[in-house]
Amino acid sequence: MSNVTEPILEVNGLSTRFFTEEGQINAVSELDLRIDRGEVFGIVGESGSGKSVTARSIVDLIESPGRITDGEIRYRNADLAEAVRDDHPAAVDGDAVDLRQLPESVRRSLRGTEFSMIFQDPESSFNPSLTVGEQLAEAVEVQRRATATPRSTRARTRGDEYSLTSYALSTLLPSKQYVTEDSRDRAVELLELVGIPDPVERADEYPHEYSGGMLQRAMIAQALAGEPDVLVADEPTTALDVTIQAQILDLLDELQAETGMTILLITHNLGVVARMCDRVGVMYAGEIVERGTIEDVFDHHVHPYTEGLLGSIPDLEGAAGRLEPIPGNVPSLLDEAMDDRCYFADRCPKAMAACLEHPPEFDAAGSDDHAARCVLAERSYGESRALPDEYFGETERVAADKHADPDRTETDVQPDRAEPPVDDAGGDRR
Ligand code: SF4
Repeated sequence: MSNVTEPILEVNGLSTRFFTEEGQINAVSELDLRIDRGEVFGIVGESGSGKSVTARSIVDLIESPGRITDGEIRYRNADLAEAVRDDHPAAVDGDAVDLRQLPESVRRSLRGTEFSMIFQDPESSFNPSLTVGEQLAEAVEVQRRATATPRSTRARTRGDEYSLTSYALSTLLPSKQYVTEDSRDRAVELLELVGIPDPVERADEYPHEYSGGMLQRAMIAQALAGEPDVLVADEPTTALDVTIQAQILDLLDELQAETGMTILLITHNLGVVARMCDRVGVMYAGEIVERGTIEDVFDHHVHPYTEGLLGSIPDLEGAAGRLEPIPGNVPSLLDEAMDDRCYFADRCPKAMAACLEHPPEFDAAGSDDHAARCVLAERSYGESRALPDEYFGETERVAADKHADPDRTETDVQPDRAEPPVDDAGGDRR
């Protein structure tokens, strides 16, 4: 793990929505995130919490019908800021650039060279009809083009080893011919870097000749082809058995220590977070609901969802040797189904009347960066203020009635809801 220095990425108020036939899905809502240069930041949560959409939004890989609708993605890079300052002054603030204010062509040129991504499933990410070496060499070549293309602002910021003539020729030739000897050599070096034995021979093999662990290593090699500043690893060990998982995590750890790159690690596995990360954000229903250092979140957590995730880690020495699942499911993120309240309330064992207001983000005890979207960060739980057991059972039935009879108004359905107890806490204790 590394010493924290300065923010390399600041995400402010990011919202990503999908516009489907069923309606608007709020996959990520007003998300704030700070990732420091050289740190490993983890995002953890259940499937459907918005982790991968957050990662793809940062790397600019959201596809239709999805769209980033709001927010800033500020990337701190003095060279880039200098290069785009004249053409896109509104995007630049000091040595930080708001990537959302850059044109698509410039953003695309940053993919691979500044930001790179390791995907969940290596088998579906390689072309079965090309050797692994050819595909890696192509990735290297693409990065060289990205830094040489005349449309790219980046061309002005780097040594132009790859001339415009080379670029022009490369766009006219079929892929096998434009991959240079240098790129092939670099592909072998990358395979060696990620620990593939006999890399010269292995470079000539096809993806189906690789084991799952080797393919994941090859994918990491591909992500490193452009020597990115920020590596986004989306569930990089999910498809692997535990022994190989440990090897891949060791590899990422070594590469991070060697290159100093920043890693954003997306996972549902708190064990992976504890092992790899400096800080972590716990994600639920498209929001970061608790964030802080590993110690803050593991030892001094505030949010009941964090507590639920920690309680569902297998503990063979536990009293009954059983897992404690979080009851219920992640909520629908369809806009019309989302109430203006804490989205975890219907699964939360500590839900109170105050939780039915939209919960703001509170500072929590611990490090300066420890925060939780939960009223418990500011007040203690009181059973006298707990919602009646049947409260959410009733509201779910009301919601179902509303869908069945769209003409029914909110006023019509409100009386069916069990009355929450009066909140006698006197508001925030700030
Ligand atoms: S705000 Fe209330 S309902 Fe939401 S997690 Fe905190 S205690 Fe539970």
